[in-house]
Amino acid sequence: MRVALVSEHASPLANPGGVDAGGQNVHVAALAAALGAAGHEVVVYTRRDDPDLQGRIPMAPGVTVVPVTAGPAGHVPKDALLPHMGAFADALAADWATWRPDVVHGHFWMSGLAALDAVTRVDLAAGGHVPVTQTFHALGVVKRRQQGAQDSSPLERAVLEPDVARRVDTVVATCSDEAFELKQMGVPSSRIAVVPCGVDVAHFTPDGPVAPRTGRLRLLTVSRLVPRKGVGNAIEALARLVEVGVDAELVVIGGAGDANHLEAEPETERLRRVIAETGLEDRVVLAGRIGRDELPAWYRSADVVVCAPWYEPFGIVPLEAMACGRPVVATHVGGLIDTVVEDVTGVHVPPRDPEALADALQSLLADPARLERYGAAGRKRALARYSWRRVAADTAKVYARLAAATRRSAALTGDA
Ligand code: UDP
Repeated sequence: MRVALVSEHASPLANPGGVDAGGQNVHVAALAAALGAAGHEVVVYTRRDDPDLQGRIPMAPGVTVVPVTAGPAGHVPKDALLPHMGAFADALAADWATWRPDVVHGHFWMSGLAALDAVTRVDLAAGGHVPVTQTFHALGVVKRRQQGAQDSSPLERAVLEPDVARRVDTVVATCSDEAFELKQMGVPSSRIAVVPCGVDVAHFTPDGPVAPRTGRLRLLTVSRLVPRKGVGNAIEALARLVEVGVDAELVVIGGAGDANHLEAEPETERLRRVIAETGLEDRVVLAGRIGRDELPAWYRSADVVVCAPWYEPFGIVPLEAMACGRPVVATHVGGLIDTVVEDVTGVHVPPRDPEALADALQSLLADPARLERYGAAGRKRALARYSWRRVAADTAKVYARLAAATRRSAALTGDA
């Protein structure tokens, strides 16, 4: 199949870890590569955020990235991109006039908006329908509920995002919690497929180099440094552990730069204050952004990986930890409800509750057999359910169903 992936702000070529570059970048890059490896012809459309990105850029076998001119060729925060989606749609429609995809897959609500706009024009010009499927990665309604006035999304999102959900041919939700939210938004179950995000199980493995250890029990977080990721709660939990005599440390991976260039981010300053208030300067390391190549060694160096977001649309980090054979203590939110299995691959705790987090960690760290058992079960679960090959195959099934339905309706209406 000819597959167009549209990912307006999250380029598959970007380095994840910064404020606006995280799971979606990883997801789009890995899904594209796995679809390409399975023999599909994949083009990924993403906003040109660097003047050096020109032309059609080969990314992997069968996969090309097309940078789209829409707004300035530099960083624009994703919440300021809406005014440029008209230009984005123009570019998509122009490209699809000569390279007509069998299916379009929008990633994030604004990509869905641009894709629907472009497809409407292509449909009209060619007299046939190009089906659109959509993965939201995050839902504005959940963000607004969680962040209230802090939510910096454009106000239009409240109307446009549900409209995208209702207009696309199908929505690919990444977890059961998201499917529930979509139904609440008025999307019928018959148009929702649940396919999770995946993990590179050949890269994230239990065996291989291990980052240097200090002799203390090591907790690890890996995330963009934004408040809702709950890194502050992990620091507070560490303070409680140390208070009761557990000799533990916390390595915090993530941020827009390396360990020496983190000052620019407000969350880093807030975390530094929490570290100072809890007197943990010698037990918390803000390691900055770590590249994909080095990450497995860091996961392997951890006794427990802590994922404590206040909410989480999916959360690839627990999968990476599980693929590396590490136990996960995760908040009971969003995709983490599906990926982390209670008392099998880890433990669930309520969000924003450092005391519960500390209690779970204390009991787990004191039980090496349980740590071992969870880690082994995590690897098994990652292999069985979350390899990108499997995720891409399940996604391709959704595409094939859509393409077949489109052909059937074209035959009925005489458009074929
Ligand atoms: N990540 C990374 N380096 C960092 C911090 C994060 O490569 O320094 C990656 C992390 O390994 C994961 C992704 O960014 O693959 C974060 O995805 P997740 O779904 O957990 O969260 P999101 O950022 O999408 O909210």
